[in-house]
Amino acid sequence: LDPADSLVHALGTAVAGHPDRACLAYFDTRLTYRDIDELTDSVAAHLAGRGLRRGDRVAVLLQNSPHFVLAVLGAWKAGATVVPVNPMYKSGEVAHVLRDAEVTALICSDRAWEGYLRQTAADSPVRIVLTACERDFQTRDDPRVLAFERLPQAPDADDLTAVARQGGRPPEGRLPRPEDIALISYTSGTSGIPKGATNTHANIMYNAERQSTGLGLPEGPVYYALAPLFHITGMVCQLGACLNGAGTLVLTYRFEPGVVLDAFAEHRPHYTVGPSTAYMALAAHPGVTREHFTSFVQLSSGGAPVPPALVERFRERFGPYLRVGYGLTECTAPCASVPPHLEAPVDPVSGTLSVGLPGADTVVRILDDRGAEVPFGEHGEIAVRGPQVVPGYWRRPDATAETFPDGELRTGDIGFMDERGWLYVVDRKKDMINASGFKVWPREVEDVLYTHPAVREAAVVGVPDGYRGETVKAYISLRPGAEAAPGELAAYCKERLAAYKYPRQVEILPELPKTASGKILRRELRSRNTD
Ligand code: ATP
Repeated sequence: LDPADSLVHALGTAVAGHPDRACLAYFDTRLTYRDIDELTDSVAAHLAGRGLRRGDRVAVLLQNSPHFVLAVLGAWKAGATVVPVNPMYKSGEVAHVLRDAEVTALICSDRAWEGYLRQTAADSPVRIVLTACERDFQTRDDPRVLAFERLPQAPDADDLTAVARQGGRPPEGRLPRPEDIALISYTSGTSGIPKGATNTHANIMYNAERQSTGLGLPEGPVYYALAPLFHITGMVCQLGACLNGAGTLVLTYRFEPGVVLDAFAEHRPHYTVGPSTAYMALAAHPGVTREHFTSFVQLSSGGAPVPPALVERFRERFGPYLRVGYGLTECTAPCASVPPHLEAPVDPVSGTLSVGLPGADTVVRILDDRGAEVPFGEHGEIAVRGPQVVPGYWRRPDATAETFPDGELRTGDIGFMDERGWLYVVDRKKDMINASGFKVWPREVEDVLYTHPAVREAAVVGVPDGYRGETVKAYISLRPGAEAAPGELAAYCKERLAAYKYPRQVEILPELPKTASGKILRRELRSRNTD
């Protein structure tokens, strides 16, 4: 088996070398590499026995529990394509994915099946259903995340835990090939109706390899899954990297700051990756100490803008340097990152923190509206070519041709590159605010707001304005115990930014709306102003 082929091959290598090493840790449970291999063989045998064919789609709607891993690896061993779906999606969103990806098999929690998915799936191609009680494989109750009971088994579904334990051999001749579609990943939808990016096994292996080697991690590294596994970052940089490096992945069902900190103390992880909002939530937790972070060799933040003030504040309070990465679903998580032993520069003009250097074999170009490359330092659309870029969108030839001309990914992000090749993300093209004809990039204003000591989270949007067309509005959540009046925050920005950039309106909310992967939903904030 060539370990570079797929994560199924990587699992095979890990089982051969370290059969008794813990692959997963979930509260009190440890599942070894041998356990995972046997349990997923059995899931694959069951799926194939129920008529699942090579290339069929299997949707997985689960939180960070061992079931997620069993479902994904079991489906891959049966030769299927996995469609990871956010378990917090509402019925209409799931229905779109089930139909769009023509899903044959669905693996979800028993509660979701009883609650709404049975009805949602009734009008879809789904004909094989496995339900999971995510309390299984876990003996210690943690009511902060697992406050629910096991439901009686539904007559129209099989139980994933039982299926995994019944034994069986995966079907012959179904080992994934590098060019097969491993995942159809629906983008998290911060910008409209989700489209399915087709991540191949080769795409995944390239990035999983980069996240597990050369980072200075010890032999048998411990990964903590801070990002949700259904999101490409969690899937590739946590699960993928862990399997590739024969490490241990610590899972705690879902993000809850107190539970995360307890897991850090208990498992002493070496590596994790999550959105900057997750680090802000950990830093704001009353129980957090420096000690919680002493085991980390690498602490990465990606998938959303990282304010330079956060990186500095974090280092001062807790010690580690937050390493930024930049990526999209369409490039299978990161395409640029800050290499170990280096620190990201801050652009002296805009104050933006660099998102890193493009990976080896990866070419990043900055393009103008006509698709020509712009000189260093000038703004343009970020375009990426490399082994992690997906071949296209699932059954969307028009969107594929538009987003991937000649196989190069047009990201829709505006950025620039300095002479030394460091990449900076200015903002998303579509988030630009046009105030009286002046361009305002929300990121720049947010970066200033994050330097204010009372600010926990900040999001800046354009809102309709009779005089300027659009005006700048900031939504803020405050740090625990901190106080600041809206007028004071506006004045703070006015002192530091050009007159057309500072927020004329500031609204303070207890919490800003976020996607399940932790990104602030500017779209939702914008729509509050259009009714
Ligand atoms: P949709 O594409 O449906 O809007 P989404 O943007 O959340 O959903 P992802 O593929 O998860 O889908 O996110 C990719 C986007 O996240 C990038 O295009 C970029 O705007 C943003 N992003 C990722 N990393 C960074 C970073 N380090 N700094 C700034 N922005 C980032």
